[in-house]
Amino acid sequence: MSSSHVIEASGLERRYGEIQALKGTDLHLEKGEFLGLLGPNGAGKTTTLRLIACLEQRDGGQLSVMGHDPNKGSTQILGRLGVVPQELAIYDNLTALENLNFFAGMHGLTGTHKVDRVQWALQVSGLEDRAGDLVQGFSGGMKRRLNLVVGLLHEPDLVLLDEPTVGVDPQSRNHLFDMIEGLRGQVSLIYTTHMMGEIERLCDRIVIMDEGKAVVQGTLDELQHLPGVKDQRVSQLELEDPQRAAEAEETWHPMSAARPRCGLGVHFLGNHGEGSP
Ligand code: ATP
Repeated sequence: MSSSHVIEASGLERRYGEIQALKGTDLHLEKGEFLGLLGPNGAGKTTTLRLIACLEQRDGGQLSVMGHDPNKGSTQILGRLGVVPQELAIYDNLTALENLNFFAGMHGLTGTHKVDRVQWALQVSGLEDRAGDLVQGFSGGMKRRLNLVVGLLHEPDLVLLDEPTVGVDPQSRNHLFDMIEGLRGQVSLIYTTHMMGEIERLCDRIVIMDEGKAVVQGTLDELQHLPGVKDQRVSQLELEDPQRAAEAEETWHPMSAARPRCGLGVHFLGNHGEGSP
């Protein structure tokens, strides 16, 4: 593993019975990097995070997380890892403060350090005024903010965010983005989503997953200029009107090409073949 790589994965495989969720995924995360994991439903994003977070064991391939193999034990990894799951992992029937105190205790925080971290969490999540209110009365955005800081209480070095903005309004989403951007320089981070705009705003590099594989990776700029990756619109135009296709290709941008559940709106010539969605 390169010393600057916090995560190094090659040929990752994971099966659930008949379903091959990961079919040889390769990716790496550099120290301090914000990596976007982008792909449609079922692409294998959450499965990848579960393997990194020691929640499940891989069936094949190599994986190193902060220098350790999750299949050989989680103790060296978990204390330095913050996981923010897709499903809200907070208690509705506790107040925000009770949730934070509970999870801070679970992370092993005690004394004034625990008090300081809980105070920090209330402040960055904008929930100081609602600390004593039951979570069941919170909006979707407030719950997501609380869900996020719960995963950060113990000051992890590596943070995994699994679709952290699901079900929130644009204003709350911006608050979440500000919170995540506030982690720059402190953590290495993987952010999964199917929203290209979120990746564009937050991430340094993108891994696009489809059908259990990392099919393309690079910076936004690199993806735009990658041979063989084209907007589906450009490929169609090439058949119909080569002149307009050339113009469209010049203005193509992987973010603007985003369309959910249609092979990402990006045409992967090397992976799906000509004409596939
Ligand atoms: P989403 O955006 O919907 O969360 P994803 O990219 O995170 O999708 P995964 O949740 O990793 O995708 O799922 C990859 C594949 O593995 C899917 O076909 C899914 O149905 C299957 N899968 C995931 N977890 C399980 C499980 N526990 N049992 C059986 N199949 C599973």
